[in-house]
Amino acid sequence: MSFRKEKLTKPIYRWAKSALPAVSATERDAIDAGTVWIDGGIFTGTPDWQALVDMPPVRLRPEEQAFLDGPVTELCAMVDEWRVVWEDRDLPPEVWAFLRAKRFFGMVIPKRYGGLGFSNTAHSEVVRKISSSSVVAAVTVMVPNSLGPGELMLHWGTEAQKDFWLPRLADGREIPCFGLTSAEAGSDAAAMTDTGTVCLGEHEGREVLGIRLSFAKRYITLAPVATVLGLAFKLRDPENHLGRGVDLGITVALIPTKTLGVVQGARHIPQMTFFQNGPISGEDVFIPLDWVLGGEAQIGKGWTMLVTALAAGRAISLPSQSAASAALCARATGAYARIRTQFGVPIGLFEGIQQPLADIAGNVYQIDAARRLTLAALDAGHRPAVLSAIMKAHATYRMRESIERTMDIHGGKAIIDGPKNAVGLQYRSVPIGITVEGANILTRSLMIFGQGAIRAHPFMLEEMRALADEDRKRGLTAFDEAFWGHVAHSAKNLARTWLRGWTGGLVGPAPEGVSFVRHWRQLSRYSAAFALLADLALLTLGGALKRREMLSARLGDILSELYLLAATLKRFESEGRPEVDRPLVEFILQKGYNRMGLAFIGVLDNLPARWAAVLTRTVAFPFGVPVPAPSDELTREVASILMAPSSQRDRLTADIYLGEGKTDYALKDLEIALERVTAVEPIARRMREAKLRDPEAALAAGLITAGERERLAAAKAAVDTVVAVDAFPPEAFAGRERAAAFAEDPDPRDAEAEAAE
Ligand SMILES: Cc1cc2nc3c(=O)[nH]c(=O)nc-3n(C[C@H](O)[C@H](O)[C@H](O)COP(=O)(O)OP(=O)(O)OC[C@H]3O[C@@H](n4cnc5c(N)ncnc54)[C@H](O)[C@@H]3O)c2cc1C
Repeated sequence: MSFRKEKLTKPIYRWAKSALPAVSATERDAIDAGTVWIDGGIFTGTPDWQALVDMPPVRLRPEEQAFLDGPVTELCAMVDEWRVVWEDRDLPPEVWAFLRAKRFFGMVIPKRYGGLGFSNTAHSEVVRKISSSSVVAAVTVMVPNSLGPGELMLHWGTEAQKDFWLPRLADGREIPCFGLTSAEAGSDAAAMTDTGTVCLGEHEGREVLGIRLSFAKRYITLAPVATVLGLAFKLRDPENHLGRGVDLGITVALIPTKTLGVVQGARHIPQMTFFQNGPISGEDVFIPLDWVLGGEAQIGKGWTMLVTALAAGRAISLPSQSAASAALCARATGAYARIRTQFGVPIGLFEGIQQPLADIAGNVYQIDAARRLTLAALDAGHRPAVLSAIMKAHATYRMRESIERTMDIHGGKAIIDGPKNAVGLQYRSVPIGITVEGANILTRSLMIFGQGAIRAHPFMLEEMRALADEDRKRGLTAFDEAFWGHVAHSAKNLARTWLRGWTGGLVGPAPEGVSFVRHWRQLSRYSAAFALLADLALLTLGGALKRREMLSARLGDILSELYLLAATLKRFESEGRPEVDRPLVEFILQKGYNRMGLAFIGVLDNLPARWAAVLTRTVAFPFGVPVPAPSDELTREVASILMAPSSQRDRLTADIYLGEGKTDYALKDLEIALERVTAVEPIARRMREAKLRDPEAALAAGLITAGERERLAAAKAAVDTVVAVDAFPPEAFAGRERAAAFAEDPDPRDAEAEAAE
């Protein structure tokens, strides 16, 4: 043992210590945040698929379901998204009042503080349903319930702070916002230039020890209307009042926005999606020390708070919104492809349309599968930081794909804005989802694999900790243990990868009694290959991998696909393996293998250590990296799922808002048209076969009855309603003054001519 340590480990320890990249304090906090779950197994090449399959599916409590069916549906009916963005540029006052009264802002706050005390699942379902009706309302509800004062207060607030703030946040007396981002500090949030200085100052007529703040935040959701600001800033104590040195680190304080010196009210316009968002700043704002979130004990812990909260929060807000958008796209586009005819046939019968339509069907199934699985993990107490990052990036990427495909299929119908457009507003909001809570490029390129490699890898963190230990003796002992554990693990994984690779995945483990055994085996095969490649990339590139973002991104893609595909298979099991879903699951798996194959090839082609690439190819992919793709036949079959009313289509798009309680609602019109068109299909077929297109002629020929003619007319009327787009009168584009002039004189040229005279 000591021979190994002295003669073998020591030189490696010395080399590794000198090669270890510097890890900043903020990076360390980010790496340490949250917990490791199934991602740990993927990194060892031995994921516990059985535990995944055995995990009970998420369920809502009766009161949560009642909230969804009651106030949430009522809210959806109250909001007219078109009016919000085109006319009011804000939610109407009665909607704000309703949100407060029904405690939408207190979903995550426990009941003892007056909140709703909802599970993560319920929180997600609420955001999902609202998102399907109004992005503006959804974002408004999302923010107080995610990374904001409420969430942070719950975990880190002092008892006094909780007792004061939580009831007020729960019932909406206080509207919170959270200010992290500033002009200098976007993705690199820790580079913020917002500062606080510990000093004596006056508060409520007394001289107290406090903090003088200077800050200028931007992009802050709800800032224009917020009554309380959660502010992240860098705290300094140049006069050492607190006896802890000068630089105290990133700190969070809760500041009532009416505090002297706080400037709010101006609004940004985020892609014409008019939720409240804007800058908030303050110069010489003095606050007492006990406004620091968590009190003095939490000074300097702001970054840890944020990354810890994000470890869970990123799995909820944006994935829920993405699931909603994907469902809306699936429902609307399937219907539109069926009822819109060109060249005499429904456009959904053209293969060119079927391909993007199948992508939409695959995405809606998969996003929701992964959302639910991750929620089950959250509700079971996990806070899987890496999986949350995967969810945030890949749910929003897939949402974007669905919406882009939706726009392409709808053509002009979805481009022309107005109340008749069921999907255009969702399209506009896509870049917001991509950018917030960790912009996707950064998340994909740096965080998913970067954090996973250290956190979810079975030995990496221990090795890094051992190398960073200032006590060299203790460090060497810990390193010796971790390093040889790593070597043994790698050797075992090499054998495992070889066996699974050379048998084409036939001997990879699969859970007991599942369907799609061969797919589970394939995922085991890919997981082993990924674990091998990840180890080799880390071994040969070390800290340089951080700069090789293209490699890191592809490795992250493989990890992400493995999670998303396992979630897909798990959903199929949880839902009782419906036969009708088989083609859909097959389609998703084929697409996933395709993406994974390309990612493997990308890494193998570009890995600087060519021996490592050759080794991986030889062991894991002796017959070449497979890059399969769904067949055309499978694609056609999957596309057809969305084009006719069915319980399967309802299940795939369950719990989105379909216009209950509204008379004019674009999605409702689509549904009516789809139902009528599919119901008259046998009549239409009879006429086609008789080569008669005109219902009157068919009636005269005795081919159809008068009742059938009526049904055909009703179907046509419903289709006409859907195919119509909005056109606005000129006065709709006039400014307020010109609109008044229009009211008096419909032709302003007369008035202008008069004025000129
Ligand atoms: C509508 C909206 C609402 C928001 N709400 C809030 C809020 O309530 N509170 C709050 O504090 N902030 C909020 N934000 C800020 C949001 O979190 C930031 O926009 C985000 O962090 C990205 O910063 P940035 O926009 O300055 O982009 P930048 O940081 O300038 O990034 C530009 C591009 O570079 C990429 N990039 C950056 N670094 C790297 C890297 N190392 N490797 C690869 N790519 C990289 C990014 O992915 C991005 O694509 C909001 C933003 C928007 C647009």
